[in-house]
Amino acid sequence: MTLKVTGLVRQYPGALEATLKGLSFELNKGLLTAVLGKSGAGKSTLLRCVVGLEPFEEGEVEIDGVVVTGTKASSPAERRKKVQAAHEKLGLVMQSFELFPHLSVLENCVLAPMKVKGLSREAAEARAAGHLKQLGLEAKLKVFPDQLSGGQKQRVAIARALSMEPSVLLYDEPTSALDPTMKQEVLQTLHRVDAGQVTQVVVTHDLQLARGMEHVCVLDHGVVIESGPPAKVLNAPEHESTRMLLASWS
Ligand code: ADP
Repeated sequence: MTLKVTGLVRQYPGALEATLKGLSFELNKGLLTAVLGKSGAGKSTLLRCVVGLEPFEEGEVEIDGVVVTGTKASSPAERRKKVQAAHEKLGLVMQSFELFPHLSVLENCVLAPMKVKGLSREAAEARAAGHLKQLGLEAKLKVFPDQLSGGQKQRVAIARALSMEPSVLLYDEPTSALDPTMKQEVLQTLHRVDAGQVTQVVVTHDLQLARGMEHVCVLDHGVVIESGPPAKVLNAPEHESTRMLLASWS
C-alpha cells in the first residue's frame, strides 16, 4: 500500500460539523486514481490534509510507510517530524504549476534535487533530463516557462515533481487551467508518468479525465461513498449520490 487514509476527521475551527467525517481509502503502488465529488464534498480539504498543509484531528495518513496521526493522538513536535518525513515521499502539482519564471526548464527541475537532496549537478541533470524526455520535453530543456504552452508548463511541473522521486504524486484539478481541448493530452501525460512506481492521485471534477484513470474514489459529505475501476463506478454506480453527481455532469 502506498497511500492509506484511515478514519480522517477534519473540522474547521468554528464549523458546526466536520468537513471530513472519518474518510478512508487505500491505494496500491502505481495506481492512477481520480478523486471525484461535487463542490464542497471535501476534495481540497483531503488534499491539504494528505500533503500536510493543514492539520486533521483524528485518523491517520500513511504514505509509503510513514504514518501521520491526527492532532488528538500526537504532539505538535511528533506531527512536525512525521509530516516532514511524509513530505519527502510526496509531490504536488498545483493548478497554476508554480514554475520559477527566471529559470530554464532544466534548472526548474534540478534546483530541489540539488538543494534538498544534495544531488550533484550532473546527477540532478541526468535525472531531470530523463523525466523531461519521458514527458516529451527533450527539446525544451533550455527554454524558459513563458515560452511554453499551458500543457507543456504542466508537464515541466510534473517532471519537476518527479525529479524528487516521490512515492505519491498529487494533482489539484489538472485540467482546470488548460483549454478543454487539452484533456486528452493531460490524460496521456498521466499515463506516461504511470510506470508502476508512482502512485498518482488526481483531484478533479472532470468526468472525462476520470474515465481514463485506473481507479476512482467518489467523495460525498466528507466520506468515500464508493470506489473501484471507472468502468464500474462511473457506468454502474451503486450509490444514489454518485448517480446524481454523474447526472449533474452529463
Ligand atoms: P471541494 O474541494 O470538494 O469543493 P472543500 O474541501 O473545498 O470541498 O470544502 C468542503 C467544505 O469545507 C465546504 O463546506 C467548505 O466551506 C469547508 N471549508 C473548506 N475550507 C475551509 C476553511 N479554510 N475554513 C472553513 N471551512 C472550510
